[in-house]
Amino acid sequence: MNAPQDAAAVKKAAFEANKLSKRLHRQVGQAIADFNMVEAGDKIMVCLSGGKDSYALLDVLLSLRERAPVDFDIVAVNLDQKQPGFPADVLPAYLKSRGVPFHIEEQDTYSIVKQHIPEGQTMCSLCSRLRRGILYRVARELGATKIALGHHRDDMVVTMLINMFFGGRLKGMPAKLVSDNGQHVVIRPLAYVAESDLQRWAEHRQFPIIPCSLCGSQTNLQRVQVKQMIHDWERQYPGRIDNMLRAMGHVVPSHLMDRNLYPFATIQATGVADASGDIAFDEEPCAPPISTAMVQWPTPREQEA
Ligand code: SF4
Repeated sequence: MNAPQDAAAVKKAAFEANKLSKRLHRQVGQAIADFNMVEAGDKIMVCLSGGKDSYALLDVLLSLRERAPVDFDIVAVNLDQKQPGFPADVLPAYLKSRGVPFHIEEQDTYSIVKQHIPEGQTMCSLCSRLRRGILYRVARELGATKIALGHHRDDMVVTMLINMFFGGRLKGMPAKLVSDNGQHVVIRPLAYVAESDLQRWAEHRQFPIIPCSLCGSQTNLQRVQVKQMIHDWERQYPGRIDNMLRAMGHVVPSHLMDRNLYPFATIQATGVADASGDIAFDEEPCAPPISTAMVQWPTPREQEA
């Protein structure tokens, strides 16, 4: 490549990085505003695993804090689970270089999980349960008012599909919730951010990534398969993942089947037209297109049969 081409490539890369930065900050800011994730005086414990998502979360939160309308503190926390080969010096070195207050919690959950889960079975459910309990305790000890996790848009959608496909429940991953022990508010400021953007941001910012599959149990997870599936869809029909996320924010209980959410048993005709109401007989997306030639009313004899 000659010098003018080099200069053009550098300019283009800088332009793309700037665009990506603006999108990330806008989407995180939007999620924070939409779900009222951050309030004045908050101390936000950012859980840092060493993966691209949590690095990006911390990075964007640090920069948003500089222009946020409210004051809040950030403390980064990493749980060193003593997985073999975990490079314990990487995160402290990075966090010191960023001037972020941090805490490394060392707990050998890896050995506990290995002891209790037979070889070949997935370790994730016990591992994450142990991790959750430890992080809640650390949040309490640090006086954190919020716990921020690095789950992103694709995680939210994949979780919803996993719950549908394998759990028979319409349940996603919330952007904000109260922890299962009732004591903490957990936030997911990356809820609107595409994983591919986080990947590009991690490369651009050259985060010192620690491989996330050190425990070697990730390759067979349903999560990995469903993620692959939605990315295949996205390639074929761009915009589907965003649409699924949007759908999670536009739920219509009267058009689902949860009798606890909508009083199907007692509904009555009101006699009043509803412009946004159902057009029951027109909405059959799986039926072939109806042409008048195809519509044939059954004869009385056919009806009796
Ligand atoms: S992938 Fe590894 S570290 Fe993550 S939850 Fe599963 S067992 Fe634990």
